[in-house]
Amino acid sequence: MKTIYLDHAATTATDLQVIDAMLPYFHENYGNPSSIYSISRITRNAIENARTIVANSIGADPKEIVFTSGGSESDNFAIKGIAQALKDKGNHIITSQIEHHAVLYTCKYLEKNGYDVTYLPVDNDGIVKIGELEKAIRPNTILITIMHANNEIGTIQPIRQIGEIARKHGVKFHTDAVQTFGHIQVNVDELNVDFLSVSGHKFYGPKGIGALYIRKGSKLTPLIHGGDQERRRRASTENVPGIVGFGKAVELALDIMENEAKRQTTLRNEFIKKILVTIPDTILNGHPADRLPNNINISFEGIEGESILLNLDMYGIAASTGSACSSSSLEPSHVLLSIGLTHEFAHGSVRFSLGKHTSQDELNQVAEILPDIIKKLRAMSPLYNK
Ligand SMILES: *Cc1c(COP(=O)(O)O)cnc(C)c1O
Repeated sequence: MKTIYLDHAATTATDLQVIDAMLPYFHENYGNPSSIYSISRITRNAIENARTIVANSIGADPKEIVFTSGGSESDNFAIKGIAQALKDKGNHIITSQIEHHAVLYTCKYLEKNGYDVTYLPVDNDGIVKIGELEKAIRPNTILITIMHANNEIGTIQPIRQIGEIARKHGVKFHTDAVQTFGHIQVNVDELNVDFLSVSGHKFYGPKGIGALYIRKGSKLTPLIHGGDQERRRRASTENVPGIVGFGKAVELALDIMENEAKRQTTLRNEFIKKILVTIPDTILNGHPADRLPNNINISFEGIEGESILLNLDMYGIAASTGSACSSSSLEPSHVLLSIGLTHEFAHGSVRFSLGKHTSQDELNQVAEILPDIIKKLRAMSPLYNK
């Protein structure tokens, strides 16, 4: 049985061209980039080449890019780094209720350490309430951190507008762009951001590599102290194969981005329409239009998302109930509760996230199988009596 993989928001397979680009940097070109001899110049150049690719892709200067171990580290670095660097200026941080745990739990950690955090509510589509944002800003606010697009429901935030408000009040602005980078256009000037987190494995790069964009002139206290790597902003011998693979993945993503975004948006919309029409008591979660091209999140009333996933798995279909991190807990997702879903709907949500290899035929197969699965589960469910 061939797997129908519809969990690209959790991770993607590393592209074979990315692996090819990485391979020479394990055994052949192994020099420590900080050393003086010529085999080190090769790795040093490879890193700087990748840095330039990443910088150009978001309209930044290469000096503004720091490589990290992934999206989680980039989020931690931006938020803790600012909190530490600006602690004499203030201790107030503004974020949203629907952030990824890498942001949410970093903020919770800071709350336990003397910081004050405002968690902005979102509307029923998952858009941050902008009016509340401006009201939340205080003289001691040092950072606003709001994600570009949500990993569970796909809603894309008005980041440019939020950035304008942040700038007007002289507050630094970070966005977690892990779900958008490599999928839709991301430009740091157009988005008015000071810090931006990205991760390789969400767009066919390797796992364990990411980057943080740090706007020129912004001071961040490092998370990792030690050597002088990354212009003293992140110690540790560089993950050269990872960085090279990351750069290659960015190149490949840019080549197909526009076409893929269009293709996936069409597939997405057709699938959503089909499911909502053929299966009763279902709703689409997230904004109908301002959403990631590859994100489909649907709630099926009266049944558990986990049971749906197990049944789909019997047909080789891989999907998710929301975020991979919360799939082992029985609590409904914080994102679905924040957009106002009742527990009956929040528990019955499934996320299908498409990728560059997802075909119309695969989605047709899922749309064919799903109604029977839902019918069967509902017939057994004490929560569904229609
Ligand atoms: C996946 C993800 C992260 C974490 O990235 P890692 O590279 O896995 O650490 C952070 N934020 C969002 C929105 C994500 O989707």
